[in-house]
Amino acid sequence: MSEHANLLKRHRAVMPSWMALNYSEPIEIVGGKGSRVTDAEGNGYLDFFTGILTNMLGYDVPEVREAVERQLATGVVHTSTAYLVRGQIELAEKVARLSGIPDAKVFFVNSGTEANETALLLAAYARRSDQVLALRQSYHGRSFGTAGVTGNRAWRNLPYSPLNAHFLHGADRHLPQFAGMSDEAYVDACVHDLRHVLATATGGDVAALITEPIQGVGGFTMPPEGLLAAYKSVLDEAGILFISDEVQTGWGRTGENFWGIGNHGVTPDMMTFAKGLGNGFTIGGVVARGDLMDGLHALGISTFGGNPVSMAAANATLDYVLDHDLRANAAKQGGTLIGGLRSAAGRFPVVGDVRGKGLMFAIELVDPGTGEPSPPLAAALMEAARERGLLIGKGGLYGNVVRMAPPMTLTDAEAAEGLGVLIASLEAVNGEAV
Ligand code: PLP
Repeated sequence: MSEHANLLKRHRAVMPSWMALNYSEPIEIVGGKGSRVTDAEGNGYLDFFTGILTNMLGYDVPEVREAVERQLATGVVHTSTAYLVRGQIELAEKVARLSGIPDAKVFFVNSGTEANETALLLAAYARRSDQVLALRQSYHGRSFGTAGVTGNRAWRNLPYSPLNAHFLHGADRHLPQFAGMSDEAYVDACVHDLRHVLATATGGDVAALITEPIQGVGGFTMPPEGLLAAYKSVLDEAGILFISDEVQTGWGRTGENFWGIGNHGVTPDMMTFAKGLGNGFTIGGVVARGDLMDGLHALGISTFGGNPVSMAAANATLDYVLDHDLRANAAKQGGTLIGGLRSAAGRFPVVGDVRGKGLMFAIELVDPGTGEPSPPLAAALMEAARERGLLIGKGGLYGNVVRMAPPMTLTDAEAAEGLGVLIASLEAVNGEAV
C-alpha cells in the first residue's frame, strides 16, 4: 500500500465518517508559497479556495511569518484574556474603526462558530429573548446554537432548531412561487413574509436576525439589492438586532465594500468574523455596539480567544490588506474572473449560473437535459480542475455549486491562469455531459 493510501486508511479509521474530504483521491498539502501549494506527491496547484478562505494573503507571507516569529521569540504563546494583551487591543482598535458600528467594542474567540454563538448570546441577553430570525439556506456553524440558525437541515444535522428560530426568504429566488418576479417584487414579497412571521409566528420580542450578506456554504447566493436594507428597517421598528455574519465576506474580499453587508447599504448592530483574518492562524470575533457588548456581564474570559500569536498574525494580515489596498485588487481580479466566466458560460449548457462579487464567485452546475441541479457535474468539475492544477471548493443547497475564493493577493497572471483552467475544465465536463 502506498504511503498516501495508508494515510487515507488511517484517517478513515480514526476521524469521523462525516468529515468531508475533497476529491476521489484526497490530497495532503505539505507546502505553500504565495497562491500555490504542493501536495505530498509533489504535485503543484494554484489554490482558488485557500483552505476555505483562510489564507486570505496566500501562503508563507513574510510579513505574517515574521510577526508570528517575533511573538514566539518572546516565549509567550498564550496568556488568556485575564491579562492585558497588547496585540488584542491594537487589533480591536482597528476592527472597531473599520466596522462603522457606532461606539464599537470587540471580543475575540477562536472560530466562526464561536463568534456566532457569542453574538447570539449577546442578542438573546440584550433582548431577553431566545427567538431569532435567519435566512433559508444559511450556514452559521457546528455548535448547538449556531446549528439552530442554520437554514438547511442537511447542514444543521438536527431535524429541529434548539433555538426558537424562524427562517425567512432571502436567497431562494429559485422557488417556483418567485419565478419571473422582478427584484423589487421579490423584496416586497419577502418583507410581507417577514411582517407575517413577526406577527403570527413569533411573540414579536425577537432577539435578532442573523444573516450572511453572501451565503457561503449556500453556494455564494446573494440576497437581491434592497432586501437586507428593507429587512433592517422593519426590524428597527421593533428594536430587533441585526447580526451580519462576515465569516466569509469580511476584509474587502467582495471588492467594493470592506464588509459584505456594505454591499447592501446596511450598518448592522453586530458583525462576526473569523477565517481569513489570521491568514491561517486561528481567530474569530464579534464586533458590536458597545452597549450590547457591555450589557452582558457574565461572559468573562475566553481561554484561548485573542491569544498573542493569533493577534500577531491577524494584525500583520489586516495591515497588509490595508497597506496594499487588496480590496481594490479583489474588485479587479474578481471582475476579470467573473466577467470571463460569464462570457464563456453560454458555450456550456452544464452551467446554470455564474455569480459572485469580487474574489468570491461560483459556478452552478445543472443537468443539460433537465436544467436540474447536478451534484455529480460539480464533483466532475472539481476533479477536472484538480487534474489541471487548480484547487476549488464545493457547496450549494444541492451540492451542485463550485466555489472559488482565491487569495486577495492574486496577480493578473494567476487570474488569467485560473480562468483558463476553469474554462478548460468546463469544456471537459460539458463535453462528457452533452
Ligand atoms: N459562518 C459562516 C458564514 C461560515 O461559512 C462558517 C464556516 O464555513 C462558519 C460561520 C463557521 O466557522 P468555523 O468553521 O470557523 O467554526
